[in-house]
Amino acid sequence: MSEIIYEFTGNPFVDAGIWAISQWIGKKPKELDIEDLKMVAEDVFDTVYSHKKWYSSILHGMVFPNGKVSNPGDFKKPLSERKSKALIYYNELIEEIEPLRSSGSCISCGRRNSKKRYYKSEIPLTGSGKCQNFFSFGTDGADYCPACAFAVQFSPLIMYKCGDLLLMHSDSETLMRIWSKKAIKNLKVQFSAANVEGPFNEGYKNVKNAFFHIVGSIIDEMGIRGLSEKQVSITFYRFKNFNQGANLDVYYFPAVVFSFLTDIKRHENYDDWMRIVRRGYRYVDWEAVKEEKGYKNNPNTVYNNLLEGKSIIGFFIDRKNKEAIGGWNLLSNYLEEVRNMDEKRVETIREVADKLSEYIKASEDIKTLNKLETASNYRNYTNLLRKIIKKRIGNGAEEPLFSFDDYVNYLFPEGNLTWRETQDLILFRIYEVLHDWIVQQGISEELVVEEEEMEAENV
Ligand SMILES: [Zn+2]
Repeated sequence: MSEIIYEFTGNPFVDAGIWAISQWIGKKPKELDIEDLKMVAEDVFDTVYSHKKWYSSILHGMVFPNGKVSNPGDFKKPLSERKSKALIYYNELIEEIEPLRSSGSCISCGRRNSKKRYYKSEIPLTGSGKCQNFFSFGTDGADYCPACAFAVQFSPLIMYKCGDLLLMHSDSETLMRIWSKKAIKNLKVQFSAANVEGPFNEGYKNVKNAFFHIVGSIIDEMGIRGLSEKQVSITFYRFKNFNQGANLDVYYFPAVVFSFLTDIKRHENYDDWMRIVRRGYRYVDWEAVKEEKGYKNNPNTVYNNLLEGKSIIGFFIDRKNKEAIGGWNLLSNYLEEVRNMDEKRVETIREVADKLSEYIKASEDIKTLNKLETASNYRNYTNLLRKIIKKRIGNGAEEPLFSFDDYVNYLFPEGNLTWRETQDLILFRIYEVLHDWIVQQGISEELVVEEEEMEAENV
């Protein structure tokens, strides 16, 4: 076996390029040899980079301005001339590739030496002079070795169009393999159908919704075996590298959210999860919506909150119809996995809510339910619970609603700070247990709490 050329570097452009080359030729990244690199360079030029849309709007316009393969000065030159210039460039890089060592000055791999500095027309987001862009200490250009610089030239093949370009990076090889395979397949289909649109584009302009769509599509492909890694990092870079400057936004996709989404995909209540997600879309007239296009780019508070580490508990609760969407099982998955809530706390809240449900039903006390729904501060809420404790004892309850220990440690561990969360969780469970009974009682108008108002407080 010949020597390994590429190992992953952690540099998003270089790793994307390695995956793109690997998927283009259908070989594992570690199996790539020098002949493969030459073959891919020529094939990608012939198929993709020689296409006007690519060399002009994408390579020159967004990734490699005035690049070796995308210099406006060459646009009118014959194809054969452009091709020989491109191949000379690629082959020079390939010929300079040295074996991997244990150290080196390349800022990407650190395993080979850089032989020259590269600027923005070859490595996106670097710069020089007045246009230094996103590089540490504002130095001119960056030190890359020829192998890493070569890989970067092919990174656009697995970029995703979402306004600017989106580059995904993960430390999970499984995720990167699945994603690069999808992106390359999409490109090959475009070219074989002679319908060239540019980078992988599914009509997403809302970048956060795009993340969830991309991650969801990867999870779909993962199959039932899932991932061997429990925690994976996923970062999205949305950028544009154009002549006058560069844009860059970096988004981290939380590992806990990824893990939660993979579990939920196989959850029996997955359809309920889709309902919860739908409730997160804002400004959508669902009556008028005919297809996904009608809402896929609207802001989604469920997605936003998941990305920002904010609670989405409110979206599990349909206050209007007194319904607990997804059931306790799905909700507790979310609480433990994403909110990192103590298992004992989740269990205590459920037990207290079960006792409250029992009390409300046995004493036909729907007014108490109404008060549990509408209590608007910590003091009122705890006073209400105290009154219920008294009534239960008066009714001959054998066990208390909760112990002092439960109260301090599990129900309201942060007192005034997070009591709302406890209130919501208790309500959710009561709706779950008593839904049919509440419906039988008739949901009177005065009990319907303004849904939007409550949701706004949850955000
Ligand atoms: Zn390198």
